[in-house]
Amino acid sequence: MRRAIERLLAFSLRPVINATGIVIHTNLGRSPLSRKVLENVAAVGSGYSNVEYDLSAGKRGKRHIHVSRLLQQITGAEDALIVNNNAAAVLICLSAMAQGKEVVVSRGELVEIGGSFRIPDVMTASGAVLHEIGTTNKTHLQDYVGAINDSTALLLKVHQSNYRMIGFTADVDIRDLVSLGQRHGLPVMFDLGSGCLVDLKPYGIQHEPSVQDMVKAGVDLVTFSGDKLLGGPQGGIIVGRKQYIEQIRKNPLARAVRIDKLTLAAFESIFMEYLDPDGAKQNIPALSMLLQSPREIRARARRLASAVKRLCPGVTADVVEDVSLAGGGSLPGVEFPTFAVAVKPSSLSVNELEARLRTGSPPVIARIRENALLLDSRSLGDREITAVAEAVAAAVAG
Ligand SMILES: *Cc1c(COP(=O)(O)O)cnc(C)c1O
Repeated sequence: MRRAIERLLAFSLRPVINATGIVIHTNLGRSPLSRKVLENVAAVGSGYSNVEYDLSAGKRGKRHIHVSRLLQQITGAEDALIVNNNAAAVLICLSAMAQGKEVVVSRGELVEIGGSFRIPDVMTASGAVLHEIGTTNKTHLQDYVGAINDSTALLLKVHQSNYRMIGFTADVDIRDLVSLGQRHGLPVMFDLGSGCLVDLKPYGIQHEPSVQDMVKAGVDLVTFSGDKLLGGPQGGIIVGRKQYIEQIRKNPLARAVRIDKLTLAAFESIFMEYLDPDGAKQNIPALSMLLQSPREIRARARRLASAVKRLCPGVTADVVEDVSLAGGGSLPGVEFPTFAVAVKPSSLSVNELEARLRTGSPPVIARIRENALLLDSRSLGDREITAVAEAVAAAVAG
């Protein structure tokens, strides 16, 4: 009876320790939030707030103004809106811009993100008509030109997100698409997926266009996720031309996909960090974990290895080199060099150790490679080292 009561009162959704090295792990909640961001969420959430109240006028205000000003400042866009997630952002943009009309998309960009988000299906749900062009591997500007007709409403580009095409391929540069759109008086939209707000080129990541670059290139509407490379809570951010953002705000779906005050509070706090891009790389956990140097990762791995050896004599725990991925459909094909602690227990199998860690308290999620359990220190916080070592000790002791 005691066990039944304990099970009833145990939380289903609870913190886990991410030792997979995958920083933007969708199954583990994507981006973790900093204490400073959560303090703002607590401050706004524990009482009343001016979420829709204009303090200077003393009457009803607008929910989006709390973040649109900062997004304009950071991205250079004329206006901005945040909705429930990027899937919702794409849906409402298509619905507001192209209901009953054609949207031109390359066949190479008709992607599935997972969890039933497929561009053709979202298009159908929005009421827009998909006009596919090109082939899977090659799409040329001429294909867009040939597709434009009286019922064309939008030229759409979609980030390939979770996969990369290599070999005999061609796609159209966003700048060429923008000038084509301008010649025909057609808006251009880019579903950027992850939506990075810092320049990753100094870190050797060449092919991830930043939101700012796309705004500067003249893209009329850019959509991206709040909880991928941006490092915030779940949300879908739309930035672009004022006239289109206004049109989207007036769409009936806007109310259905609007965000709550807690999410707004988190975003405002995160965008404050982005006013100083170098500070953002330090203070936003997802960015600092992705961009930390291999030396820092190795130092943490060494501390973990010695803690494991100290708490569990008889267990092999060696620091090994490996690679980690960004995750969350971000930066496909980019491998980040990392260090992990390879644990080989003597008294139980590696699979059994993995299962015990996963079902322990707190749960520790790790991966298995070559008959060793790998604890990747890229996604571990300094404060989690002891907890992970203790979890290994408890799992080995059974
Ligand atoms: C991740 C992604 C989405 C969905 O974003 P969510 O915020 O997870 O809803 C849509 N389009 C692209 C290209 C993506 O990478």
